[in-house]
Amino acid sequence: MSKADNFLKDFHWLMDVLQFIDVGLVILDRDFKIQLWNAFMQNHSAMDSADVLGKDIFETFPELPENWFRGKANSVFSLHNSAFTTWEQRPYLFRFRSYRPITSSAEYMFQNSTIIPLKDTTGNVDHICLILYDVTEVAMNRLKIQAANAELHRISRTDGLTGLLNRKTWEIELETEFKRYTRYGQMSSLIMFDIDHFKRINDGHGHPAGDEVIRQTAATAAACIRDVDIAGRYGGEEFAILLTNTPPEGAKVVAERIRQRIEQLEVFYEGQAIKFTVSLGISGLSPNFSETTHWIDAADKGLYEAKRGGRNNSVIFTGE
Ligand code: GH3
Ligand code: MG
Ligand code: MG
Repeated sequence: MSKADNFLKDFHWLMDVLQFIDVGLVILDRDFKIQLWNAFMQNHSAMDSADVLGKDIFETFPELPENWFRGKANSVFSLHNSAFTTWEQRPYLFRFRSYRPITSSAEYMFQNSTIIPLKDTTGNVDHICLILYDVTEVAMNRLKIQAANAELHRISRTDGLTGLLNRKTWEIELETEFKRYTRYGQMSSLIMFDIDHFKRINDGHGHPAGDEVIRQTAATAAACIRDVDIAGRYGGEEFAILLTNTPPEGAKVVAERIRQRIEQLEVFYEGQAIKFTVSLGISGLSPNFSETTHWIDAADKGLYEAKRGGRNNSVIFTGE
């Protein structure tokens, strides 16, 4: 066999390998016309080589982000460096359906891709090769872990019964707000509130009914505050709300709104309507507080006053 024959044979084998390798291979010229379209690409796009060879890749695959891809490819053409893109940057370049049963939750194939320069014998780069990897399994596993972590994070921060922040997290938020205040002097207020005669609800209707009362109390209060306000379940039937950038007079308006809505609320549990009220204490941030516990204590004293004054009541603690 001649040298040329050997070369042709090697070349033929090489082409077979390229065809059947389990990654996508696309060769493009400078006009972005498709010059090679291997079996992987044919199978996943359902388009034969004959359908796409010589065609403009952007016209053939409109999902390919043209400006972005041209920018990447042009830098490969001019700098002769390869360019890599991960599924995290772009989930896919080609919208190929994901068929793998194990990753059936993915609608499309997640793809990593590399664009490499193809030098001719004189060192010119007039073609580039796009290599496409199916990373659906890796991506799905990563996304599942991320979702699980986000859920764990949420669970660790919130109270299971009400969905409000749990006490620990709420206290951390309070610390942050307190520091912001000492730095920027923003006026913020605190509302601490507690369900009146809650023991009677538990005793009269049962603990699960009490739980439902707590849940609806939290939901009612949450509906009365702004997104920036921070509500937490401070104890069994005690709640705390941090109202940022709000003077105590403003907090009083919010407290009264909560009080009235709770007063009007009827919680139905196993056919019985449960009516109840809450008492609320309010305290504005003061330069006299050197730590957050002083602030909480002040709001708590307001709450105590509200209870002492007959309950179903809100009181601003002024320090006198
Ligand atoms: P007051 O008007 O003075 O607040 O009277 P109260 O009966 O509400 O008194 P207190 O605040 O001391 O009662 C709290 C009760 O709440 C005692 C406790 O058994 C009950 N409790 C605490 N956590 C929960 C909970 O998660 N679910 C239910 N159902 N009850 C709880
Ligand atoms: Mg209590
Ligand atoms: Mg109570």
